[in-house]
Amino acid sequence: MYANLFNRDMRKILITESSSCTKCKSVDKLQLDHIISISKGGKNEISNLQILCCKCNNNKSNND
Ligand SMILES: [Zn+2]
Repeated sequence: MYANLFNRDMRKILITESSSCTKCKSVDKLQLDHIISISKGGKNEISNLQILCCKCNNNKSNND
């Protein structure tokens, strides 16, 4: 429950009308991504978050 609340707040802060994908600059279906996965020791904080579009996020997951 805490994680859900946290993610909703982060989304409100980071994804705005002027946001774009960190990798390809797409503005379609933007998502917040952990630069270092939580499962790999990354922190659940703004400095470890980047904005990726759905496509790049999927590509990252596949290569992870
Ligand atoms: Zn992208």
